[in-house]
Amino acid sequence: MTCNGVLVVVSGPSGVGKSTLCNYIVEHVPQTMLSVSCTTRPPRSGERTGVEYRFVEAAQFRTMLEDDEFIEWAEVYGYAYGTPKRPLVEAIHSGVSVLLDIDTQGAKQIMERFAGAVLVFVAPPSLDVLKQRLYSRALDGQKDIQRRLRRASEEIAHCKDYHYLIRNADLSRAVKALESIILAERLRVSRLGASWLEDSGLLEQTTMNEITT
Ligand code: ADP
Ligand code: 5GP
Repeated sequence: MTCNGVLVVVSGPSGVGKSTLCNYIVEHVPQTMLSVSCTTRPPRSGERTGVEYRFVEAAQFRTMLEDDEFIEWAEVYGYAYGTPKRPLVEAIHSGVSVLLDIDTQGAKQIMERFAGAVLVFVAPPSLDVLKQRLYSRALDGQKDIQRRLRRASEEIAHCKDYHYLIRNADLSRAVKALESIILAERLRVSRLGASWLEDSGLLEQTTMNEITT
């Protein structure tokens, strides 16, 4: 019996640690994968197309949008980002749980389309810590970091629409929390489907005599 994988949305302000947490999960938890989004944002140094993102021109993004290739999309920090539909649906149907590192606008679209999606919000211990992480990551320019910080409180205000909240202070505790959520969600009876009990053979009649001998 193959159960559908779990669709796990991970949101939170830029620099809070979403990629760090998601990468840890896909490396250490079997049957999980990270969805690779398409974006019009230019690659940062070291980013490769098809790995962190699929980097596309604005015109190509528009064509993909018209062709209904995205399960959700949004404009974030001035660029378009979208989750490709086909690989996600195939993975879920083959029993693989898929993590989506997407913003709160995208999470809202997923929640409206997939009743079974699990929404996890990652919050920083404080805005000062968030600022430090963005500066020490040193991947974005000063103007871009300011833009991301300005939006942080707005993003955090949406955490009440999520199912779970992880405060990413200590990294090992935060990864444990995300792993626990995924493992528990996989065990929901409603996900296992109606046939698992019949298939299990646990309903077969057994006499008391057989049990005691
Ligand atoms: P996001 O994907 O949310 O933008 P990243 O995963 O890129 O954030 O993390 C931003 C920076 O913070 C990275 O340099 C990462 O190594 C660091 N980081 C993530 N989680 C923690 C943590 N719990 N403690 C300290 N640093 C962290
Ligand atoms: P970054 O440019 O730092 O990689 O990502 C910026 C923001 O875009 C992050 O909050 C990230 O979660 C979000 N994001 C990345 N991919 C997608 C996507 O496919 N859809 C949506 N809605 N947001 C995305």
